[in-house]
Amino acid sequence: MRTYEDSYLHKGLRKQLVDLLRQKGITDERVLEVILKIPRHYFLDSAFDKVAYEDRAFPIAEGQTISQPYTVAYQTQLLDVKPYEKILEIGTGSGYQSIVLAELGAQVYTIERQKKLFEEHKRFVLRHKYPNIKYFYGDGYEGLPTYAPFDKVIVTAAAPYIPPRLLEQLKKGGIIVIPVGKGDVQRMQRITKKADGEFQEEVFDNFSFVPMKEGKNNS
Ligand code: SAH
Repeated sequence: MRTYEDSYLHKGLRKQLVDLLRQKGITDERVLEVILKIPRHYFLDSAFDKVAYEDRAFPIAEGQTISQPYTVAYQTQLLDVKPYEKILEIGTGSGYQSIVLAELGAQVYTIERQKKLFEEHKRFVLRHKYPNIKYFYGDGYEGLPTYAPFDKVIVTAAAPYIPPRLLEQLKKGGIIVIPVGKGDVQRMQRITKKADGEFQEEVFDNFSFVPMKEGKNNS
């Protein structure tokens, strides 16, 4: 069960969350503004209503998680989203990150490999508000060749390596933000595809994501 009521209490808690994100080093005001706006508790079971604005990850269906707000803010800040950019997201999950990108004005293409999550999300109450998000059931390692190239790619699951298809599907000048690592901890990386087709790599902080798995899951 979920609650779709955005009370003053929820708004107040969101304000506190944004203050905390600012203290933790998030500086992009556009990112903070959309986090202030989006009712994160809508993405969670009503049992989590009171804690939805703590800076923590939470379980959703199928053993997956909605990322911690700090992680969402951090990745989105690195992505430096501009209006009308075409952005590919790997790992739709709860759909929260894709709505953050859509609120920043991007054209979002998001892929989920778990059939159940993909189907369940079709009934999500906020979905009709964002015609600029397209949802796909598929394997993120393949990307979306039909819709490529993309200005930017964001991977929201732990990648053991940087999937070559995703680099191929980037425009020149495009960037991918991706947590890379085989163990429990991954390093956030930002790869830029330069005008000459070479890649430039930057390495940031450690995070802990659920694994990016190969293939689709139809069970
Ligand atoms: N962006 C999400 C975070 C979801 S957690 C949010 O805002 O809630 C990571 C998600 O990635 C999970 O739903 C998981 O099923 C999905 N995932 C893992 N490997 C994948 C792959 N190869 N392709 C697409 N999605 C994948």
